[in-house]
Amino acid sequence: MPELSKRTETFTDSVIRRMTRISNKYGAVNLSQGFPDFEPPRELLDRLAEVTREDFHQYSITWGAQNFREALAEKQSRLMGVEIDPNENVVVTCGSTEAMMAAMMTVANPGDKVIVFSPFYENYGADTILSGAEPIYVPLYPPEFNFDPNELEAAFRQKPKALILCNPSNPCGKVFTYDELKIIADLAEKYDAFVITDEVYEHIVYAPHKHIYFASLPNMWERTISCSSLSKTYSITGWRLGYIIAPPHIIDVAKKVHDFLTVGAAAPLQEAAVTGLRFGDDYYRQLAEKYTEKRDLFLSGLDNIGITHTNPQGAYYVLLDISEFGYESDLDFCEKLAEKVGVGAVPGSSFFRENVNHLIRLHFAKKNDTLNVALNRLSDIYKLKK
Ligand code: GLN
Repeated sequence: MPELSKRTETFTDSVIRRMTRISNKYGAVNLSQGFPDFEPPRELLDRLAEVTREDFHQYSITWGAQNFREALAEKQSRLMGVEIDPNENVVVTCGSTEAMMAAMMTVANPGDKVIVFSPFYENYGADTILSGAEPIYVPLYPPEFNFDPNELEAAFRQKPKALILCNPSNPCGKVFTYDELKIIADLAEKYDAFVITDEVYEHIVYAPHKHIYFASLPNMWERTISCSSLSKTYSITGWRLGYIIAPPHIIDVAKKVHDFLTVGAAAPLQEAAVTGLRFGDDYYRQLAEKYTEKRDLFLSGLDNIGITHTNPQGAYYVLLDISEFGYESDLDFCEKLAEKVGVGAVPGSSFFRENVNHLIRLHFAKKNDTLNVALNRLSDIYKLKK
């Protein structure tokens, strides 16, 4: 038999998605892969039911249905403070997963370097390999997950093509401040690099922290490829609706990449999602309030159990320190946690470039009842101690 491709030899399947399968196998409360167990807004579901009987069953325009792009451009122009043209500045993709991959393939040649902060969302590792780029990892230091500007500049001196910025950040929950973003912006300009953002948690931010769109910084619109999705904002991770927003000379190329990767996102789902994109600002305020309540419930439950953890400023993940349990492998710990305690988690090692084995990631995008069941189970976690 001929050999399979070399490029696929250097990465495994997604550990996040694997942990969902392991959670299902043991009937664990799945706090590994980040997706909600509560319903999307009723209006979206009602519209989806109507759409099934309307004329949306064939391909939409490859870079996104006109109606969807117009609603998206209006919403994002309002929030990002940049005038976004629905015809010139938008590509609708199959989730932000495709948006990020298409963005990477749009800018990177094989051998190009790309800066990735560590810890990072595991897809970025595979994205760089699939696009032929080489990651340069720059550490974010706990507890605030700050970067060292000198280390970042040293990475830029290696002439990277782009930097990947996940803000609010998965898995560490960091929300970058204006000053931090400005340091990145100045370096991107000085060393002439693109910035590819992943802003899927843009509406899940805890006061007093605020999300600042990187593209809104002075001079950054021209070199920023903003990727995001509707998955987290409208609790529709299975609809696979994401997008890229960028200036026309970048979008023209991203359109081609996207066209040949997937042709287009699902037409009926784009149409139904327009209802969400047209929501007023109250919706986003209430979403942040709902997640603030969940964060408070979950973190205070963890405090009562006595586990050391991070305090997220945004997104819906928390890293637990499992050093005291005496495990060499966090993967082994997560298997035991699913099997013996009944809670699914993701081993922290899948997010870090550094040799980190003492952290696991849980998420709290679940009904309060589900979180209470998980906390109840987690109160038994010390039985895993070696
Ligand atoms: N972003 C989610 C997580 O980190 C999952 C995304 C996915 O599996 N596509 O768990």
